[in-house]
Amino acid sequence: MAIPETLPGPAPAERMSRVKESPSSRVADRVRDFQAAGRKVLPLTIGEPDFDTPDHVKEAAVAAIRAGETKYTSANGTPALRRAVTARLLRKTGQSYGHDEICVGGGAKQLIFLAFMATLDEGDEVVVPAPYWVSYPDMVTVNGGRPVIIGTTAAEGYKITPERLRAAITDRTKWVVLNTPNNPTGAVYSEAELRGLTDVVRAHPHVSILCDEIYDEINYGAQPVPSAVTVAPDLRERVFLVNGVSKAYAMTGWRIGYGAGARWLCGAIGTLQSQSSSCPSSVSQAAAVAALDGGREFIDRTVGVYTARRDLLVSGLAAIDGLRPTTPEGGFYVWVDASALLGSVTPSGKEVTSDADLAEHFLDTSGVVVITGDSYGCPGHFRASFALSSETIREAVAGLARAVESLRR
Ligand code: PMP
Repeated sequence: MAIPETLPGPAPAERMSRVKESPSSRVADRVRDFQAAGRKVLPLTIGEPDFDTPDHVKEAAVAAIRAGETKYTSANGTPALRRAVTARLLRKTGQSYGHDEICVGGGAKQLIFLAFMATLDEGDEVVVPAPYWVSYPDMVTVNGGRPVIIGTTAAEGYKITPERLRAAITDRTKWVVLNTPNNPTGAVYSEAELRGLTDVVRAHPHVSILCDEIYDEINYGAQPVPSAVTVAPDLRERVFLVNGVSKAYAMTGWRIGYGAGARWLCGAIGTLQSQSSSCPSSVSQAAAVAALDGGREFIDRTVGVYTARRDLLVSGLAAIDGLRPTTPEGGFYVWVDASALLGSVTPSGKEVTSDADLAEHFLDTSGVVVITGDSYGCPGHFRASFALSSETIREAVAGLARAVESLRR
């Protein structure tokens, strides 16, 4: 955050200079501003399902309100929700977690933030493979840590290799962040790849893995998305699994995420919650129980819809000379290599020298909004969401085709 020299009111803490507003929140605000000004925009920026929360989940929330479940709960979540989480984790990982190895918070985002707050001392390092979810580096720096960004390549499927991970580890490394399926690339680590990475971590006892699996149910593969704990159950206490109901059940606004890992860490996260938010929303927790216990019908149906949209967007983008999309294995984003367009010139004579210039050109020419690759630590790319109707996707692809064709290369 850029802080003016003099401000009315209390002076900001030094730590505020180490954090900026999330680029995705900023872009979402910008889209809303454009729409409010009456401009048509095609927001390929959407970071949440466009489906409504399933009815049985809403009904469970209403029933909880009527039953008086409207009071504080325990800081790390109600027994009912922790039970639903342990049942889900047993189904997914084969591991049976105790209730004190689970924490529930106001979204996966809050739990990742609190895990860093609970573990990072000044100068501790967190290995973050790029392209990365925009929030990890800021969450690390604001909590006193140092993000160690390691690049990946398209040829490696945008996944880190054991060699790269080994080379990045120092005496100060506390965490390695693994996000599978990945936002923004849609890459999913296979069991064999996870085994390679967990072998490296096993050899460095001061290193733990923060495994962000928030997109694991939005999976286009034939097998469930593997988890680091499944392949390395012996490292269970050194893996902090993070997940939630936001993406799988179209519940982003309900703000419920969960974590599983070392007993002390979940306890510490509970302590931090007890001194900040007190607990996650009681009503949302009741809704999350209904979601987790409610079967797979909603997930199977929505993944079917996402699959058709994914194919529509990927094939549309692939047909545009200058854009190279990667087909995602999970999540609802397509990662697009647009580096061939840097250095081109717009019809008004402006040279496209950065991702921001390119995004601006898309917006000006056809109202299409994308999130620039530099936000994810990987310039020369952009992220395009397909959590949108097929009609919007078709219009956006046509708009991008027009915008790209108009560039002089
Ligand atoms: N991790 C990743 C990779 C995400 O993309 C998001 C949401 N954009 C989150 C975590 C946070 O999800 P939640 O709504 O549970 O806070």
